[in-house]
Amino acid sequence: MNNLSDIGKIKEILSKHGFTFSKSLGQNFLINPSVCPRMAEYSGAGEGVGVIEVGPGIGVLTNELCQLADKVVAVELDKRLLPVLEETLGEYDNLKVVNEDVLKLDLHKLIAEEFAGMKVVVCANLPYYITSPVIMKLLEDRLPIEAITVMVQKEAAQRICAEVGTRQSGAVTVSVNYYAEPEMLFGVSAGSFMPAPKVDSAVIRLNVRKEPPVKVESEKLLFNVIKAAFSQRRKTLANSLSSGLSVEKGKINELLINSGVETNARAEKLTLDDFANITNNLQEMM
Ligand code: SAM
Repeated sequence: MNNLSDIGKIKEILSKHGFTFSKSLGQNFLINPSVCPRMAEYSGAGEGVGVIEVGPGIGVLTNELCQLADKVVAVELDKRLLPVLEETLGEYDNLKVVNEDVLKLDLHKLIAEEFAGMKVVVCANLPYYITSPVIMKLLEDRLPIEAITVMVQKEAAQRICAEVGTRQSGAVTVSVNYYAEPEMLFGVSAGSFMPAPKVDSAVIRLNVRKEPPVKVESEKLLFNVIKAAFSQRRKTLANSLSSGLSVEKGKINELLINSGVETNARAEKLTLDDFANITNNLQEMM
């Protein structure tokens, strides 16, 4: 097995394959040997478990996951990394590398075909340019997965893991909380990557809920309400909802009063129950 935690070895492999980093694909590879084993451990990878990894790079995290899980499917968009992965991880017979864009992939089909009878988890050092779209796709697709353990930029991690109803929360906090219970695991310094990004990172785990904590008639409308509410953070909730949903202010005031929410409240003060009440009352009004 290649010692992928050795920076000298990583550089040697990359130079042998003439690999150059693509900024636009978010290629910052982990070179801190202590991070991947911890991530793999937290991910829930183990006996009877299948893992989906997004963006294996040269396979440092994949290597750890393959040692713990029954099976790993690693989705990598950059085809230049396929021969590299063949060299670094070719010995594993429980690994499948899929050369696709994760955002375009039918993950329900992939899970049914690759992980029959297994518990499934996701573990990834995400390309930062698509952090939220990937997380929201994994959640919105209602995949049969238990948890999503991902490395993201520190600020994104703090936003996702903030308490709903506090100043640190945002649209992503409320949306993620509808599907999962987020947990901050540990911080990772910028120097742990090659090339080093400008910002620090953190590993978070989203424990996927069996059922959402609130009931709404229309999830689509709920997410439109959340998006509109946070669209102009300096404005009051009534103004943001009125412009974001194209509903006149008088009606929005009435909607908020009927939903038990003060008209001059700020979006960040609302709970998931408040958002659900507003959504269901809005649906009735329409
Ligand atoms: N897992 C490796 C590590 O920790 O060193 C690499 C992580 S790097 C931050 C992100 C990886 O995601 C890169 O290998 C990149 O090529 C890949 N990637 C970028 N966009 C992708 C997409 N849309 N679908 C699948 N993989 C993608």
